[in-house]
Amino acid sequence: MRLSLNAQILTGALAGVAFGFLLNWQGTQSGWSATSLQVCGTGGKLFVSLLKMILIPLVFTSIAVGIANLRAHAQMQRVWKLALLYYVSTTMLAVLLGLTVVNIFRPGEGIEIGMFQEAMSHSSIQQLTVGEFIKNFLANLFINPIQAMAEGQVLPTIIFAMFLGIALVVMGDKAGTTLNLLNELFELIMLIVNWIMVILPVGIFCLLTKLVATQDPSLFAALGKFMLVVIGATLFHGFVTLPVLLIVFTQIKPLDYYRGVREALVTALSTSSSSATLPITYRCLEENLEADKDVAGFVLPLGATINMDGTAMYEAVAAIFVANLVGVDLHLGQQLMVFFMAILASVGAPGIPSAGMVTMVMVLQSVGLPAEAIAILLPIDRLLDAIRTMVNVKGDTIGTLIVDQHTA
Ligand code: ASP
Repeated sequence: MRLSLNAQILTGALAGVAFGFLLNWQGTQSGWSATSLQVCGTGGKLFVSLLKMILIPLVFTSIAVGIANLRAHAQMQRVWKLALLYYVSTTMLAVLLGLTVVNIFRPGEGIEIGMFQEAMSHSSIQQLTVGEFIKNFLANLFINPIQAMAEGQVLPTIIFAMFLGIALVVMGDKAGTTLNLLNELFELIMLIVNWIMVILPVGIFCLLTKLVATQDPSLFAALGKFMLVVIGATLFHGFVTLPVLLIVFTQIKPLDYYRGVREALVTALSTSSSSATLPITYRCLEENLEADKDVAGFVLPLGATINMDGTAMYEAVAAIFVANLVGVDLHLGQQLMVFFMAILASVGAPGIPSAGMVTMVMVLQSVGLPAEAIAILLPIDRLLDAIRTMVNVKGDTIGTLIVDQHTA
């Protein structure tokens, strides 16, 4: 009997978690468990490389073709406005929830900062002021597209593809050959994505094995309350707030939605990268949930890059945690600063593992908290990153479905 792809993915995920626990319990310093961890590490890396290989060609063609076709339907304005409205409002909701929860539970209070002193003194955190952050962000918007693609930079690739899409519309029939070529290229890329899907269960097994096997349980004891607050708030946003929006603004039944996107959610959890997950997310929306190819082609890659609810919420919660840890009471004005900075930081963070950690520095510095505190957060970030990335991807899928249903 051959299992369906979905059943294989679920089996791969559960087996990965179970095997990861076994390796963690066994210890991975030497022997068969060390070898297994190495094999899974290499397997997982290979799988993520495959996803990244197809990512840039997919983003480039889907955006150019999507914009060209949408302009032809004169839908573009509405898609733009709705997508931006959705990104901004859901990110704000997420941060608001995070700030509320962290102020109620106040993790970090009563923890002895001294126990982290060593880690903090060895960290080599680069300073990142708000001005520098904005300057870097703007400087990286428009760059040579060949360079952007070669370096796997998603945002400048999106921007170039948008220009190309608009130019295709302006030129009309005269550019028919290029549009056809891009359309065909896009179809070919999706065919390759289908091939990659075949090994998705193995990739997920390897990645989850490594994730679970390399967790350090002793850290959970010290930082358990903080982790619980982050995980609880993130899951609430992902599994209550966002589904409510899905139910209110679309006709899609939650069960059908989950059936349609579960491959993307498990991939996000395993890779901790919205960008690497994008090819799978796109396929789920287009094939399983029948979203309009052009709307998804535009809204999804943009969302994967700038719409990160889980990341924004994490940045805000972590900043207040650090403040509690060092004994600083942030007043309302400062918390408002954290609110906006966390949103900005999530927009600027690329969809790669632990990207939020880098932009976190800016959030901390904006209210005068020590950037070195990142050293405390880094060792527990793998697990938290996996969960927030899943919610980031979930936000992108629900946004695309809402925009799709309201622009059809
Ligand atoms: N890993 C996250 C993502 O790819 C970004 C982050 O919060 O670090 O969506």
